[in-house]
Amino acid sequence: MEMTFSIVKPDGVKKNLIGEVIGRFEGQGLKISALKMLHLTKKEAEGFYAVHKARPFFESLTTFMSEGPIVAMVISGNKAIEKVRQLMGATNFKDAAPGTIRADFASDIEHNIVHGSDSTESASFEIPYFFSAMELF
Ligand code: UDP
Ligand code: MG
Repeated sequence: MEMTFSIVKPDGVKKNLIGEVIGRFEGQGLKISALKMLHLTKKEAEGFYAVHKARPFFESLTTFMSEGPIVAMVISGNKAIEKVRQLMGATNFKDAAPGTIRADFASDIEHNIVHGSDSTESASFEIPYFFSAMELF
């Protein structure tokens, strides 16, 4: 059993894809262990993506991530980190495998619908950034 963290990004919420994304996770046997809708401030988005602070896309990414509500969730299951990343597809939707969330719905490299932790280290930072121990099931 493993836990990972995922977000339906502002573009996914705007495109009515909350249920679609959650349905794909549940459809693979993964469990929703925590779930909430919230609107990040620019500062909160910067804190979440601090690992990308030096990257050229940081400013644009954190503006995008704070421009509308998101759905944050914790997903549990066997190999949850890898399974969620596979369902998401590659960062750039042009490289994403057919049938993945990003291949099906992303509009450009930034607006790619979904986030998922890329490692146990990332998940250990990202889960408590959004959820307290009492909010995890
Ligand atoms: N991103 C971007 N331009 C890039 C790379 C990434 O706008 O050249 C955005 C995109 O929204 C991506 C996020 O920054 O999902 C975080 O980048 P990362 O490399 O961590 O990709 P992910 O783990 O989301 O696949
Ligand atoms: Mg990443």
